[in-house]
Amino acid sequence: MKECTSCHAEVVFVKSATSGRVMILNARPVSSVVLRNDLGETAPPDDPAASAHVVPVYTDHHATCSRAKEWRGRSRRNPPPADADSGRRGD
Ligand SMILES: [Zn+2]
Repeated sequence: MKECTSCHAEVVFVKSATSGRVMILNARPVSSVVLRNDLGETAPPDDPAASAHVVPVYTDHHATCSRAKEWRGRSRRNPPPADADSGRRGD
């Protein structure tokens, strides 16, 4: 298990599906609800085919880090959880 070098919370590193960059997520998911139609696609609440599914959801650690202020302005140069993406920077 990895930990945030700023606040020492347990975190995991997972690649973003959209950007390809590694995201830092809280290791423990929280339960949340998504609505899906019969095809398994995301559906709005007014969709007659919508049904509620309780799923584990991971939170971006930047949103909850108790020491996030220390990260500002140095995310590229020296991210606190310097890990996981070394050698895989895509820019
Ligand atoms: Zn942290």
